[in-house]
Amino acid sequence: MTPNTNYQKLKESYLFHHIAQKTGKYLEENPGTKLYRMGIGDVSLPLAPAVITALHEAVDDQAKKATFHGYMPEVGDPELRELIRAFYGTRGVALDLDEVFVSSGASDELGDILDLFGPGQVSMIMEPAYPAYVDANIMTGNSVVHVPAGKENGFLPVPADGEKALAEARAAGEISGGPDLIYICSPNNPTGAVFTKEKLTAWVDWAKEKDAVIIFDAAYEAFIEEDLPHSIYEIPGAKECAVEICSLSKTAGFTGTRLGYTVIPKTLVRAGLALNPMWVRNRTTKTNGVSYIIQKGARAVFTDEGQKQIHQNIAVYKENGRVLTETFDRLGIWYTGGKNAPYIWIQCPGGDSWAFFDRLLHEVQVVGTPGEGFGACGEGYFRFSCFGSPEDTRVAADRLWLLLKEELGK
Ligand code: PLP
Repeated sequence: MTPNTNYQKLKESYLFHHIAQKTGKYLEENPGTKLYRMGIGDVSLPLAPAVITALHEAVDDQAKKATFHGYMPEVGDPELRELIRAFYGTRGVALDLDEVFVSSGASDELGDILDLFGPGQVSMIMEPAYPAYVDANIMTGNSVVHVPAGKENGFLPVPADGEKALAEARAAGEISGGPDLIYICSPNNPTGAVFTKEKLTAWVDWAKEKDAVIIFDAAYEAFIEEDLPHSIYEIPGAKECAVEICSLSKTAGFTGTRLGYTVIPKTLVRAGLALNPMWVRNRTTKTNGVSYIIQKGARAVFTDEGQKQIHQNIAVYKENGRVLTETFDRLGIWYTGGKNAPYIWIQCPGGDSWAFFDRLLHEVQVVGTPGEGFGACGEGYFRFSCFGSPEDTRVAADRLWLLLKEELGK
């Protein structure tokens, strides 16, 4: 018996380990020093009061015979699915109830969804990227084509960039067919860049022409404040070529509570096979659904009161983004993100992203994330997160200003 040898092809995931090692060593040498952690991808504010009330009620429901719930439907509580369906309606996206699947988070789905396609697919991953996309594809036995993004395209690649990456991978003998899957994350982690309707339309048209399927990660859609697409289904034709994966993690602080949702339109068909009923079969085989308690808590997110409260928390993170981007504007540093996303991606003054990391840690005790950890084209860039406390963000911004203003001629 041989276990899955694809695991041997995984590259060491050293980014956060390396950061922890460096900050640990610094604290050992400088005990008691406060660090300003602007690298975190986790939320810091508690759940909305409406969610907490619903969670308490759900626990009490489980204490009484009349309101007790056992197994929930594998594809999700119909009431929650209906609320999610209606939420898409507010974005102008009409879905049927059975096109919405409740999940225990986007990460779970981003990995599991590959079951629908089987091994040997050619997956195009726009980089810099959330690291789980690459690893999930490698574990499955797919070929990954890295589509690099850069300053020249505002970190938003176009299909011609994809064509180029495919041609290079073919010339190198890495792939023969494809593309089969195309990953798009908008607003993006780590760059904070958001695809416009026009740019997304180009990818939808291209995917349809190539008979490929887009995996659209909308985990940060709630941070969009300008007139930009929240869902890929706002683009005509997307229901024939895209799966959308979303999460309440960043939207409503559910990182430790766990709830997400996936949309698979019934019109998404490849080689005569409809993906929606295949996913029903997958879920009913591989999960027994999300807990009743968590789903009842999630329902509260989609009420008027819940929406108001989660947007109060999002406003705190966005104010952090404003404080940081204002500093980068004053310093004349190039960046993407911040306005419609909880991440800011700056071009490092001085080039090297790990050298910039060391400098910030040692000179101003600010910790961020070197861009190189999100793909080779992230070298020279640096990610700041807006999920920290407003107090720490303000201090970090002041310290960055004082550290860099002279050398940047301000
Ligand atoms: N997708 C992106 C782009 C993310 O950044 C994250 C988490 O940071 C996830 C998905 C995972 O979300 P979840 O907590 O729902 O698993």
